[in-house]
Amino acid sequence: MRYGLISDIHANLEALETVLAALQNEAVDQILCLGDVIGYGPNPNECVKLVQQHAAICLIGNHDEASLGRVDLDLFNYMARQAIEWTTDQLSDESKEFLRALQYTKSYGEFMIVHASPDEPRRWNYILNLEDATQGFEAFTESICFIGHSHTPWVIPLQPDGRMRVSHDYPLAVKDDCRYLINIGSVGQPRDRNPDAAFGILDTGPLRYTLKRVPYDVAKTQKKIRATGALPAFLADRLATGQ
Ligand code: ZN
Repeated sequence: MRYGLISDIHANLEALETVLAALQNEAVDQILCLGDVIGYGPNPNECVKLVQQHAAICLIGNHDEASLGRVDLDLFNYMARQAIEWTTDQLSDESKEFLRALQYTKSYGEFMIVHASPDEPRRWNYILNLEDATQGFEAFTESICFIGHSHTPWVIPLQPDGRMRVSHDYPLAVKDDCRYLINIGSVGQPRDRNPDAAFGILDTGPLRYTLKRVPYDVAKTQKKIRATGALPAFLADRLATGQ
């Protein structure tokens, strides 16, 4: 089985279309979406529709949930809040219905997927350091847990002796005696100083994972963000630098 893993699309239609085309070239059997389909970007309904059409499953992210009015907006910074309020106004009834039905986690036996952290998935904790990762590893039993949320791709292998480190070496050949936390990065708003859209490819039996990057039409998305007149300009600016 060959899976395409996507997350944090954030209503960036150009990035999503480019990644879906790349996934078609990669001949994946199934696409798994780890959430935050909307928020920040200018095309929430279009992105919801594409994910609905192409992904075998979509999990819920904190921006998806906030746009449904289910998360306290005080938990978000000013820019995110502005974007969520604008997005809520844009969402069609069909989009809301789709987002409302999304689940928080899913296990596939050898691996699991969740938007933020396997440790209390509904609380949207960030895994930003090895201490957070330790807590994360205690919260799942599969070999690999794939996450999104921070928009920065990395792999943290946990050795049998308990040692951990942060790795950016791809492709990753999964070792039987190790366990892994893997952040697949963001399709629509990368924050690792690389503006190219990020996604992952997972092959099973034997397990093998790699991160992919594809350039997309950033200028087109930026123009649409500015044209809303409501989304903060920084949300357009940051796409060019991947920050
Ligand atoms: Zn996000």
